[in-house]
Order: sequence, then C-alpha cells, then structure tokens
Amino acid sequence: MTQTRADALARDADDPLGFARARFALPEGVIYLDGNSLGCLPRRTAARVADTVTREWGEGLVRSWSEAGWIEAPAKVGARIARLVGAHADEVIVADSTSINVFKLAAAALALRPGRRTIVTEAGNFPTDLYMLEGLARLTGIEVRAVAAADLAAALDDDTALLWLTHVHYRTGAVHDMAELTAAAHAAGALAGWDLSHSTGALAVDLNGADADLATGCGYKYLNGGPGAPAYAFVAARHHDALDQPLTGWMGHVSPFDFAEAYAPGKGMARLLCGTPGIIGLAALASGVATFDGIDMGVAQAKSCALGDLFLDLVAATCPGVAPACPATMRGAQVSLAHPHAEAVMQALIARGVIGDVRPPDVLRFGFPALYTRFVDVWDAVAVLADVLAREAWRDPRYAVRRAVI
Ligand SMILES: *Cc1c(COP(=O)(O)O)cnc(C)c1O
Repeated sequence: MTQTRADALARDADDPLGFARARFALPEGVIYLDGNSLGCLPRRTAARVADTVTREWGEGLVRSWSEAGWIEAPAKVGARIARLVGAHADEVIVADSTSINVFKLAAAALALRPGRRTIVTEAGNFPTDLYMLEGLARLTGIEVRAVAAADLAAALDDDTALLWLTHVHYRTGAVHDMAELTAAAHAAGALAGWDLSHSTGALAVDLNGADADLATGCGYKYLNGGPGAPAYAFVAARHHDALDQPLTGWMGHVSPFDFAEAYAPGKGMARLLCGTPGIIGLAALASGVATFDGIDMGVAQAKSCALGDLFLDLVAATCPGVAPACPATMRGAQVSLAHPHAEAVMQALIARGVIGDVRPPDVLRFGFPALYTRFVDVWDAVAVLADVLAREAWRDPRYAVRRAVI
C-alpha cells in the first residue's frame, strides 16, 4: 500500500527500473506525464545528433551515405524496434510517418486480398487512421466500416480485406486483445493490422505471438525519438514476397542507385521505403530507442500499470469532481479522467508544473512511461490536482484561452 509520500519514495527506491531515469535529461521543477504524446529528451540525443550533423554531414558529406551507414539506418533502427514489438529484425523498418504507413499498409492489404472490398476499423479510432483509410477508400472505391469495439468481430465477413485497429486507444487507454482479434480476422480470411503508437515502448507487444500481419506506430511517443520522429512499419515475413504498396518511391526500389526507369520492389521491408530517409531524425530516433537497451518490456508494462493504479487510487481518495475515463484493467501506460472543464484544469496543472494533456470533449490524459516516471511523481501530481480542484483554481480566466496544441 502507498498511503504516504514516504511510501511512494520507498517504492521508487525498490524500483527495478529506477536506474533508467538517468538516461534522460529531465527539466527541473516539472512532473512530466505526457510522454505518451511526446517522449522526454534522452541524455545522449543532443551529442548523437550533433555528431551526425557536424562529423557525418559536415565532414563526411555525401560519403556518409555509405561510410556512416546512413543508407542502412532505416533497417538498422527498425531491427532495434523489432525487439520491442515481438518481431524479427527483418520485419520492421523505419519510414515516413505513422499516417503515411497506415496508407501504404492498408493498400498493401487490399493487394494481398484481391476481390475483397472492405476495411473494418473501430469507430472512434485515432483520427489519422480513419482519415487515411477514408482517403484510400476514395481512391480505390473500397468501403471503410467503422464499428464499435464490441461489434468488430461480427463485422468481419468474406468481403473484409483488413481489420485495422489501434492497439491502445488514444483517449481511453483501453487495450484490444491483439491475438484474439487477429485470429477473428484470419478466420474471416482477412488480414489484421495494428497501429502501435501508444503500445511500443509502453507495453510488452508480441506481434508474431499474436500472428499479426501488419503494424505501424510513432517514434516520438514512448520511443523518445523527438518531435516528428520518423515512424516504423512491420510486415510479417510470410507476406514479404507478395507485398505490394503503392507509394513506389525510388528508395523502395531493389537497387535505387542503378537508376533504372522501371520500378522493381526491394527485398522484404525495403519496399516499404518511399523517399530519402531523414537522417538527422533517424539519429535522434536511434538514441530514443537505445533508452530501452536492457529493458524487459514486461517489467516496464507492470510498472506503468502500477503507476496508473496508484494515480487512480489517489484520485479516488482525494479528487471529487473527476471520474475515471479509462478501464481499470487492460489499460495502456496512460490514465484518463473526465472533467467538464478539462482544458482549463489541465492549463492550471501545467502552470503548476504538472504536464499532461487533454482530449475533447472532457478528458484529462496522464501518461506513465516506465523509464522515467516515479511513484513520487504520481503522489505529487495528484496532490496538485486535488488542490486545483478543491480551490477551483482552474476558474482563473487565464486558463480559458485555448492553446494551439492541446
Ligand atoms: C499519435 C498517433 C498517430 C500519429 O500519426 P503521425 O502520422 O505521426 O502524425 C497515429 N496514430 C495513433 C493511434 C496515434 O496515437
């Protein structure tokens, strides 16, 4: 039990992942509970990026594509991410953004299931997933069916090419059973694809254990790759030979530097590439992924879950006026609370050094990445929230002005 601040400190002293916090350059005076939106700055990233810029680019110039291994970086960093998602090293590559990868992977799924004309997804899925699928539907004439979570399995039929889901819901933190839903998709003859933006680096993901076909996710959330970091894509090895994605840029060609006029797809995940990779962003992402060196994701998941449980327990005991907006179990590394003035409450918290975020209409969201969040941070953050609510500090008119990014 954690009944006092000293109890929270004692849990931190016992934390098997406590050492990992030193891998980050954290600002003073801030309790950061928004690593699910933008991960923290790893201590080594500034030097790593500076080396890429000044030595590899500044001195090596164009030679660095070969000599500094730039050309292999998407596959190399992808292989490091593969360990975190239960994939083989050659099943993951870093490329583009999550949004663009959703498009490429969903289009590839249509090509792998010719004749099938429907993609099933969850109503309330993250907007970019819905928008990209809508765009693909406009282009191809297929139908996107977005249904409630409880109706997903029943929505699959012999016209379904792909079940496309986000594993951890961005607003509620609810986790889908990846193995069960993948099996349901397969039973209908469809493929199963997963957006892992709120999963990779947060939970013990096992794509191959679940027999998943496709996946993608963000580099800048739990992977700590920096703002706008490139994303990654996964395709199960059994689909590599037949994989056909429509954004056939030259970097996905089997031999881009032959400058052939006709496209021929690269081997395996290489064909997921489109244009020239952003090497500076990849260097920062590599440094972010390296913060997981030696980390057992099962241990990390258990810690994030315990931090979230403590947060919810303390909120229940000290914060009347907010209600949990997340499941008690089967929850990602985040917790959501409902409050009718969520945005003003969050601005009051941020003004007091507790950083989370909000999602419309009324959700306060708090993330608990295991590598740098402490139990005492949870204790202190709930104390600030309780005070803001008890004194109605959020009613200050300063907090009524909407920020550009919430
Ligand atoms: C954050 C997030 C994205 C972001 O996509 P970008 O293309 O990187 O902007 C996509 N999907 C989900 C589920 C997310 O949470």
